Amino acid sequence: MKKKNSSGIDCVMDVFDGLKTAGKVLQEAGKIEQYAQILEAQKNILEQQKRISDLEIENKDLKEKLELKGKVKFERNAYWIVEEGKEDDGPFCSCCYDDGKKLIRMMPGWSESERNCPKCKNKGVSVRPIQ
Ligand SMILES: [Zn+2]
Repeated sequence: MKKKNSSGIDCVMDVFDGLKTAGKVLQEAGKIEQYAQILEAQKNILEQQKRISDLEIENKDLKEKLELKGKVKFERNAYWIVEEGKEDDGPFCSCCYDDGKKLIRMMPGWSESERNCPKCKNKGVSVRPIQ
């Protein structure tokens, strides 16, 4: 039943299952007060499980952002994702990236070298030479 890679969630669920078993025994034995304590503990465990899950998601997100941060370079009035052996990906709006680290892909403007951000008012940005 156990997964290969034990995460925080799995550990919490092991404790939860243990409490469930203990609760069942207490309920059958008519120990209502103790059974109520078990139920309360189970409720707390579920809250903790939710918290761990939220933190794991947040942590994954931050790791991805951190990894990306090393690849995002400011060049030619915009941000680009620069990776070895790959063409530069971009341009991304400098305004949006500087304010909230959002990579918003810029769209072609009126001329070849111009790019507009579809999200903010950053328009007519010259990003020449285009790759
Ligand atoms: Zn923008």
